[in-house]
Amino acid sequence: MLKVYLAVIIGLLLVGCGPEKEPHVSSKMFQSVSENEAVLVQDTKNKRYCARCGMDLVKFYKTSHSATHKDKKYQYCSIHCLEDHLGEGVTLKNPKVVDVDSLKFTDTSKAFYVVGSKKPGTMSRISKYAFADKKMAEKFQKLYGGEIMDFNHALAIARKDFR
Ligand SMILES: [Zn+2]
Repeated sequence: MLKVYLAVIIGLLLVGCGPEKEPHVSSKMFQSVSENEAVLVQDTKNKRYCARCGMDLVKFYKTSHSATHKDKKYQYCSIHCLEDHLGEGVTLKNPKVVDVDSLKFTDTSKAFYVVGSKKPGTMSRISKYAFADKKMAEKFQKLYGGEIMDFNHALAIARKDFR
């Protein structure tokens, strides 16, 4: 608990030290990117928002996932909302995750997830960030801790988180 508390304080200090020119406070969150960096794949008016919980996908971009269900593209704020959709018993095709390094989508089957690092989680206390390149995942792990695992293991942890 103390650790979590310290992380929050350090996080607040870091936010406090950021450049003042930033137009939105939200852009200082680790998950956030600028609007032109985010790839939004849904063919709806609400493409900027998570298909399940409605959270802003630009704000939570670095944990974003996407998948196709019955020819419709869905984008989620996190592996948690993807898992929530799977919980309805649907089959999601072509699941992808944002690679934290390149900010491009990569197949979840090829991604390396760093689970439980010091970086904040989305919809969870246990954070999960994905990388296309194992070396980048290892670099992230060295800096922020956590465990490297594949999509299915990360999904199993996300499932436990929820229930
Ligand atoms: Zn969501």
